[in-house]
Amino acid sequence: MAIKIDGTALANQVNETTLNRVVEMSKRGRVPGLAVVLVGNDHASQIYVQNKERTAKKLGIHSEVIRLPESTTQRELLDQVNELNMAPAIDGILVQFPLPAHLDEVEVTRTILPEKDVDGFHPDNLGRLFEGDHGSFPVACTPQGIMTMLESVKTPLKGQNAVVVGRSKIVGRPMSALLLRADATVTIAHRYTPADVLPVYTRNADILIVATGIYHLITADMVKPGATVIDVGMDRDPDGKLAGDVDYFEVEKKVRAISPVPGGVGPMTIATLMKQTVDLAEWHEER
Ligand code: NAD
Repeated sequence: MAIKIDGTALANQVNETTLNRVVEMSKRGRVPGLAVVLVGNDHASQIYVQNKERTAKKLGIHSEVIRLPESTTQRELLDQVNELNMAPAIDGILVQFPLPAHLDEVEVTRTILPEKDVDGFHPDNLGRLFEGDHGSFPVACTPQGIMTMLESVKTPLKGQNAVVVGRSKIVGRPMSALLLRADATVTIAHRYTPADVLPVYTRNADILIVATGIYHLITADMVKPGATVIDVGMDRDPDGKLAGDVDYFEVEKKVRAISPVPGGVGPMTIATLMKQTVDLAEWHEER
């Protein structure tokens, strides 16, 4: 039976440490601040933002959610980001993606000050990650949370074969950079990897990270016995229940460790966001 990588329990541990840091900071008269900008009415985004706001409040982090209408122009959104860049009470800024189609996500990402870029998507922060820099700077929260999950079950990374399925800017790409920085041999598969070739790579993976949004893309015949598998997908099964990209109950019979959906990567993403907000607040405090 595989080790179940319990993201909820691990997130609780991370949050406890974050809470202690917030308490220590409040004794110095400082409260960490997180601003989340939400444009439009995307249902999933509204739920994600609510969860982030709730966790921030629980941990004593000052949180502001700025809800803008679907009709917001690029100029108005950039002005809002610039205002938050200047706000002393705000240490971390997150603009919830996807934005409505008429808005340019790349320009928005580049407008957030790198030292307030709590999501780690600014090219300065991404560039440092790809340089292999081990210094202190924000890293995309989902992949960073996954590194904590891998560490929690003592997954060896150095010299191991890691396969990342999916190459999005928020998960696959920064994930591959983190694994490379940890000295794994990294392969990235994506939508143009032929379906009959994908198993050739995945069966070779000591560490398999799957982030495609395709329900049960990964079946038991596609994994290496003894592998560690992390499922990022948030999909719906045929009954409409939340499920992942990995056929959990079949795959868990073969592997060393595996994360479930729900209760895996999701809670760790939020815990990492909170931790990084406090990292940035401490950084600002020292300046
Ligand atoms: P995305 O839609 O931006 O990217 C999907 C990726 O999958 C692309 O890079 C694409 O090339 C690849 N892909 C598509 N079909 C493929 C195939 N047949 N074989 C191999 N690769 C294929 O997605 P994303 O934003 O990275 O999210 C992926 C999934 O992870 C979604 O289900 C999303 O909801 C979930 N997610 C969860 C969290 C969390 O915190 N739990 C965070 C981010 C994303």
